[in-house]
Amino acid sequence: MTTIDREVTKYPAVQNYIGGRFVASSAADALDVTNPADGSVISRVPLSSSPDIDAAVQAAKKALPGWAATTIKERVQVFYRYKALLEEHIDELAALVTEENGKIDGEGRAEVLKSAELCEFACSLPQIAAGEVLEVSRGVECRIERFPVGVVASITPFNFPNMVPNWTIPNALAFGNCMILKPSEQVPLSAGRIAELLRESGLPDGVLNIVHGGQATVEAICDNPEIEGISFVGSTRVARIVYRRGTANLKRVLALGGAKNHLIVMPDAEPEMTSSNVVASMSGCAGQRCMAASVMMAVGATDHIIERMAIIMRGMKPGVHVGPVISPEAKKRIEGYITEAEKAGAKVLVDGRGAVVPGKENGYYVGPTLIDHVTPEMRIASEEVFGPVMVIIRSKDVEGAVAVQKRSRYGNAASVFTESGGVARYVMENASAGMVGVNVGVPVPREPFGFGGWNDSKFGVGDITGRGSIEFWTRSKKMTTKWNKEAGVNWMS
Ligand code: NAD
Repeated sequence: MTTIDREVTKYPAVQNYIGGRFVASSAADALDVTNPADGSVISRVPLSSSPDIDAAVQAAKKALPGWAATTIKERVQVFYRYKALLEEHIDELAALVTEENGKIDGEGRAEVLKSAELCEFACSLPQIAAGEVLEVSRGVECRIERFPVGVVASITPFNFPNMVPNWTIPNALAFGNCMILKPSEQVPLSAGRIAELLRESGLPDGVLNIVHGGQATVEAICDNPEIEGISFVGSTRVARIVYRRGTANLKRVLALGGAKNHLIVMPDAEPEMTSSNVVASMSGCAGQRCMAASVMMAVGATDHIIERMAIIMRGMKPGVHVGPVISPEAKKRIEGYITEAEKAGAKVLVDGRGAVVPGKENGYYVGPTLIDHVTPEMRIASEEVFGPVMVIIRSKDVEGAVAVQKRSRYGNAASVFTESGGVARYVMENASAGMVGVNVGVPVPREPFGFGGWNDSKFGVGDITGRGSIEFWTRSKKMTTKWNKEAGVNWMS
């Protein structure tokens, strides 16, 4: 924590957003917000605690009855307008993502476009989430209607400052909930613009509130008795903490954690597509995606593909094709993993350590890195590195490759590159991951399909987006009615 004169930062100190107004946090402590591309301090973010969460909860509670009483068809009108505003403001929103997170321009734009797609899904909820009705006995009808959970919270990570908040906001709010968003303290600026655009779209005050901070803020959310549900996206370490603490306080919690995604490359894989897709998966967003590939299981004779990957990676310039990682600590951690693997006998084919971008010498850059002859026992093969690093583990057959994947404690994504339908089906059936792909480096299921992993990559039931999120953001009410006294009488009437 440093003391920076707020006048010298590009953006004013970040404020909480409560009841439709930007307000100062009650906390005295604050952190610097830095631009990872050059290390400059661009703002300060407060470390809010219980009084700020309490104020946000009161604002959300006040807004809840009115918002919940509108129909879902009315509520999604906000998201039609918000989607149009996201598209209209894409240049500015993408630039803000780049500034606080480090993504290169195309990546920032892709993130905002994905937020627009998430709104598109929310706008379809009146059609998708229509209730069920059945005559269960003569003249007796059962129907199911969905009601909001109440005041809910969404806690988000640094790697998608615009998209991950939009994983939860449109669906949760369309179903009539009121929300407290707790963005990552490393990237707090995009959230403020999200709030402004939603206000411009007609969202009533208090339906979305934002409280900035870190651990103490999250703990205040987990302990607040008036918050009914929590969604969390971040590392497995913190996902466990939030899941345990939130459920111990009898809340519904869906906590998405970290990842270690395996790509299985077969000798028959189409070389051009496979090499470019694998590199794009490991290096996109500087490897800081929970869907990024970080282990390549090279099955049999795949040297020709590895050589192409090395050529592509050597041609990628940090600062142009790969953005910086989020912090100096992240750079040190990633480079430490590479050095440790090298000392343990792995062969570094392409080395991104010590990358420097001219004119941005204080940026936190790591170049694309390819490491061959890694063994499953090495730390770099099993722990989440979260940087542009791909390790290659050799396997003589697909069964051995899948066996290595299944030993991972994570289970977010896995993919296979092959021309064989039988091999593809074997991997899809047997990989221990919630999202699997064939000839796709980043197998993100797009709406209406839900996003969510298995094992230590997700705690809780359901998915965070798509149809899989409907149960989480709603409570269903089962209604049984009979209107005609002449209806048949039986044990259920
Ligand atoms: P993080 O776990 O450090 O932080 C996530 C959130 O938790 C932040 O809002 C942070 O303020 C809060 N937090 C941090 N420490 C805490 C503590 N001790 N107690 C309570 N709250 C705490 O994650 P990050 O570094 O911001 O994001 C990167 C991680 O997120 C990676 O592990 C990545 O795989 C994961 N991620 C997962 C998904 C997914 O869908 N599974 C998506 C995006 C990112």
